[in-house]
Amino acid sequence: MERGESPESTTQAVMDGKFLLNMWLSEALCAGTDTEFYFDKYENDQETAKDIDRQCLSCPVIKECFDYGVKTESYGVWGGVFLNDGKLDNVRNSHKTQEVWQRLLGIISEGEDIDL
Ligand code: SF4
Repeated sequence: MERGESPESTTQAVMDGKFLLNMWLSEALCAGTDTEFYFDKYENDQETAKDIDRQCLSCPVIKECFDYGVKTESYGVWGGVFLNDGKLDNVRNSHKTQEVWQRLLGIISEGEDIDL
């Protein structure tokens, strides 16, 4: 299933445990795009990774996305941060500038301490 793809029905989504995910995923800027941009392509090409970072910083559901990735101990880009088991992956985020980190943390932390 691609990011942002709608479930066949609400009942099915709830049964799959994906209801909350799909509530915000419909607003995701990455909806319908190739998921590999948030996994392999992000890892293998820093210019692609920077493009994805910029996209995520403009996404209206960046906070929800990040929180979901952490909560579900996910792998890949969630809320503009590459996570590994829901934790910050230092290697795959090493291209990020201090400015990008400041912008990201300002959004995803909403002023609270976050444990990555
Ligand atoms: S923050 Fe990035 S990965 Fe998450 S929904 Fe938005 S565009 Fe997609």
